Amino acid sequence: MTFDRIEDLHRALDSGQVTCVALAEESLRRAATENPSLNALAEIFDDSARAQAAAVDSRRAQGDHRALDGVTMVIKDNMVYTGHSSGAGSKILTGFVSPYTATAVQRLLDAGAVLIGRSSCDEFAMGSSNETSVYGPVRNPLDPTRTPGGSSGGSAAAVAAGWVHAALGSDTGGSIRQPAAFCGIYGAKPTYGRVSRYGLIAYASSFDQIGPFTRSARDLARITEVISGADAHDSTCSDRPVPPMMQSERDPKTLSFGYYQEVLDNPALDSELRAAFMARMDALKAAGHRVEALRFDYLDALVPIYYILTTAEASANLARFDGVRYGFRTEGAKTLDELYKRTRSEGFGTEVQRRILLGTFVLRSGYFDAYYGQAQKARRAVQDATNADLSKVDLLISPTTPHTAFELGRETSDPTVMYLEDIFTVQAPIAGLPALSLPMGTHTNGLPMGLHLTAKAFDEPTLFAASAYLSE
Ligand code: GLN
Repeated sequence: MTFDRIEDLHRALDSGQVTCVALAEESLRRAATENPSLNALAEIFDDSARAQAAAVDSRRAQGDHRALDGVTMVIKDNMVYTGHSSGAGSKILTGFVSPYTATAVQRLLDAGAVLIGRSSCDEFAMGSSNETSVYGPVRNPLDPTRTPGGSSGGSAAAVAAGWVHAALGSDTGGSIRQPAAFCGIYGAKPTYGRVSRYGLIAYASSFDQIGPFTRSARDLARITEVISGADAHDSTCSDRPVPPMMQSERDPKTLSFGYYQEVLDNPALDSELRAAFMARMDALKAAGHRVEALRFDYLDALVPIYYILTTAEASANLARFDGVRYGFRTEGAKTLDELYKRTRSEGFGTEVQRRILLGTFVLRSGYFDAYYGQAQKARRAVQDATNADLSKVDLLISPTTPHTAFELGRETSDPTVMYLEDIFTVQAPIAGLPALSLPMGTHTNGLPMGLHLTAKAFDEPTLFAASAYLSE
């Protein structure tokens, strides 16, 4: 039995129609039978999932009901969970078993979620197609010849296939929102600092955020509310109080939307996606909303800014994988230097090595000002311009991706082609803002299209209210 909304699932639990144990068994069974064809999960957590489900059923029998009771979920392979392996899709973490649990994962468990497994992702969350994981490519459940998107493609595929109710992913430049669009589901990246990054294997620390994948707008709000809030383990996590994320009394008719003409004029944008988006803008206007065309001068600078800053941060973050502290270690090295070099050459895949090299290059003395320093200044300019636009309208709106899910193998030969996949999703994390993707109908090629919303910092309630309204 699958439910698209936690409310419906809880109604079925309350009436005794299902139990958490039955839901977990069904989810485990489907994941085990169907994973060989999609390859979305790196591991299924049979024993711990069964124990959690049984514990939630008995807690509920005592009258203690919680926000995510019985909600089956998978967590991305870059989040740690006590006693379980986490690999970040990399050979270099082979054999790593975590001695602690990520804050966001712990909050899911405390709220009654049942964790079915860890979902495959691009190596260290670097990618847009889920083809670089050491576990092999993940397939899109809607068309297995195509990518589910990346880097959190395994999470998106598991939710879209209906194996689990929801999932956690992480988003640095679009890794929740783009796979959500490619798989026809919902995915949100909260404001930078809204959700603790403690226990998230870092890619680019000033961009990374954890967020949910769901099959309904309301569930995005509910899960975000559970995982949000201050955490003493992460000094970048905001201590602002967490508001109710789904405020039903908010009248969406009072909202205003801004879109960028430059996005619509971008040659990469598929013409049918563009037409579908314009039809949505017309429908919003006809329904009495304010919809404004805005100007954005930095569209072509976004991808370069993103890749300079994130590779710089990645080169520092990934220095800790040296063959001494975690996971994989090369055999037979004679000196410490050789151990480091060979472990890293054998343990990291090509894309990760490329980004570490790029990152050390842009940080090199003599180049620092020209690349890293410039990109930092440009980031600030983008933040200022975006915040200025969001003082005129409540939400920025655009297509999530330039086209629908592409064939596996199509974009792997030229990394810069793959990098351009992120053109519409990197603005929000460059500016630190909350954003989400929701379904926008089906293309004539049969694949889903995504609609993207960005809100002001810490204004997730408006983001979720608008997405619920746009889903009706
Ligand atoms: N596709 C982007 C990248 O490769 C985004 C990845 C992400 O958000 N983790 O960096």
